[in-house]
Amino acid sequence: MAGMKPGQAVAIVVLGAGAIDTARRIQSIYPGAQVHGLASRVQSDIAFSEFGTHLRDLYTRGTPVVALCAAGIVIRAIAPCLADKGAEPPVLAVAEDGSAVVPLLGGLSGVNVMAREIAARLRVDPAITTSGELRFGTCLLNPPAGYALADVEQGKRFVSDLLAGETTRIEGDAPWLDHAGLPRAEHARLAIRVSPRAALSDEQRDDLLIHPRCVVAWVDGAADAGTHGDLAERVRLALREHGLAALSLAVLLAPPRDAASQALADAARALDVPLRFGERPDSEAGEEHGAHGVVLAVAHGPVDASAVGRPRGKLTVIGLGPGSAELMVPAAKEALAQAEDILGYETYVRMAEPLRAGQRVHGSDNREEMQRARHAFRLASEGRNVVVVSSGDPGVFAMAAAVLEALDEAREREPAWAAVELAIVPGVSAALATAARAGAPLGHDFCVLSLSDNLKPWTVIETRLRHAAQADLVMAFYNPVSRARPWQLDRALDIVREYRAGTTRVVLGRDVGRPGETVVSTTLERVASQDVDMRTMVIVGSSLTRGFLRDSAREWVYTPRWYE
Ligand code: SAH
Repeated sequence: MAGMKPGQAVAIVVLGAGAIDTARRIQSIYPGAQVHGLASRVQSDIAFSEFGTHLRDLYTRGTPVVALCAAGIVIRAIAPCLADKGAEPPVLAVAEDGSAVVPLLGGLSGVNVMAREIAARLRVDPAITTSGELRFGTCLLNPPAGYALADVEQGKRFVSDLLAGETTRIEGDAPWLDHAGLPRAEHARLAIRVSPRAALSDEQRDDLLIHPRCVVAWVDGAADAGTHGDLAERVRLALREHGLAALSLAVLLAPPRDAASQALADAARALDVPLRFGERPDSEAGEEHGAHGVVLAVAHGPVDASAVGRPRGKLTVIGLGPGSAELMVPAAKEALAQAEDILGYETYVRMAEPLRAGQRVHGSDNREEMQRARHAFRLASEGRNVVVVSSGDPGVFAMAAAVLEALDEAREREPAWAAVELAIVPGVSAALATAARAGAPLGHDFCVLSLSDNLKPWTVIETRLRHAAQADLVMAFYNPVSRARPWQLDRALDIVREYRAGTTRVVLGRDVGRPGETVVSTTLERVASQDVDMRTMVIVGSSLTRGFLRDSAREWVYTPRWYE
């Protein structure tokens, strides 16, 4: 979409169920768009509780907003943010039934383009009020992707001049204006100048200057000591020395061995261009200049940054939470939305659905953790954005440790893995989810143990159980039983019974946060392994863990915060 940065997913905001149909139709136009709904009135992708706060939050973060409600409500909600002149994302009001589309704010970030797109989908006419846009059929101040307007204020003056009757000619290549209804004249005083050059001579002062993003800046050795600091400034200087505008820069390119360089990442952010890694651009494609350790390759037209080299690879290990979408943290959802490759145990990958078209899923058996971790690094070191999923929290008996182990093991062998950007996003672990359903059994000191002896000897498990039982810790058992490990849980419970009373509270949470969830409160003397399977979390209380009935249906279990 012209003027909109990729990655800023459209927020479609609804206040009631009556707007959902229209919201979903609009959602189908914009990849990654999400429907935000007032929690008390409507089921949606993202719930909010207070309209004004939520809208202001979206606006200040630069999120394009389509609000399905009266324009007045939107204006009043956003009004307090309008005084500070920051970036202005597109904001539109759309009638709940889809009968009216009103662009409100964001003329320079493509609001009218969006209004047209949405109106076309809803088969109505958009309520466009921008005079230049109406007269010329296009917003001259919002050139398409690959081009940047040099100066907004100058641009506004230029449009006023045209509206006042001046004519214009086009210098350079502006294919998107071929069909615009501009008042063109071969010898017009004013020109629309499409060029990477910065300087305007005095007689060009009234022209509209648009820069094609056609310059690739190649920086070698940014990761070397001593060159830190002002890489962005060096690029700016190099551009200036060659008469090129900063806005004509399309991409910062560096050799793959520098992929982990912070200096490069900072410079790309400061210059507001993508950072890519690859070979030095060959000079045959256009002119080439060098200065300040920067090579500038100027192409004949806009350069598509996504076709230059490749990005720094990224590997994010996320936890999906116990199962339901509302217990997945937003950072994990975000990582999933951005991912190109998703790796994990089949069942978990299915929990991460629905996936976007084009996302590759690599499901595998649950026991192949180290292979999966290595596979993830191989993909990420090729420049892909890879997400590895675990259920619950990825650091609790799950993939995060396997991923770090794979990296640690291969430090010498796989130098390319070191350049991969690595992040671990926490999730709600099964013990925490189960505890919350039951009350607060983990309210005081507790420990978590996996009863699986696949990767550790049973003797170690027994020793730990004895110590934990002796210490009167609340215990949360992960992997309590499986078909291959039928006796372990009974043995573990017997050990605990040596130290704790038969009346000790036990909570069994099965499929917590998933369809068919059950949470049962029982006691140490009554619990038996046939009540438990591999989808169950077992929480054994301490001597102080207690419970009470609030209504006859369920018991609230908690461990007090004090100890005696
Ligand atoms: N990383 C996961 C744990 C993986 S070990 C987490 O943090 O939750 C797998 C064990 O976790 C299962 O055998 C079961 O004991 C427990 N478990 C995972 N999800 C569960 C759920 N939704 N309900 C109950 N127990 C669950």
